[in-house]
Amino acid sequence: MPQTSTIRKPLCGANLPAGPCERQAMKNGRCSHHGGLSTGPKSQEARRNLRSRRLINGRHSMTTFEAKQTQQTLAMIMAIIREIQVLSQEEKLLLINKMRLAGIY
Ligand SMILES: [Zn+2]
Repeated sequence: MPQTSTIRKPLCGANLPAGPCERQAMKNGRCSHHGGLSTGPKSQEARRNLRSRRLINGRHSMTTFEAKQTQQTLAMIMAIIREIQVLSQEEKLLLINKMRLAGIY
């Protein structure tokens, strides 16, 4: 059986609803639940590995943005078409007259 150290590591002490966190620190001195965010790769190899990865995903690129706008515009047009479909013949003619006066039909 591996010998375990009897030296108690400092406790986390994070404020929790049930009282302070009593977890002991990991090897790096931080709590496994409340130790904070990663501090990033440490070894030379890990840093090289990270540098070679593509971290930009294109989610906010202009083409995606434009595609979203097009989709929103199409949704709006479809909503207008649905609204027009339920109008009576008389209401449709009134709408066409209004559009003619506004110069869009
Ligand atoms: Zn903790």
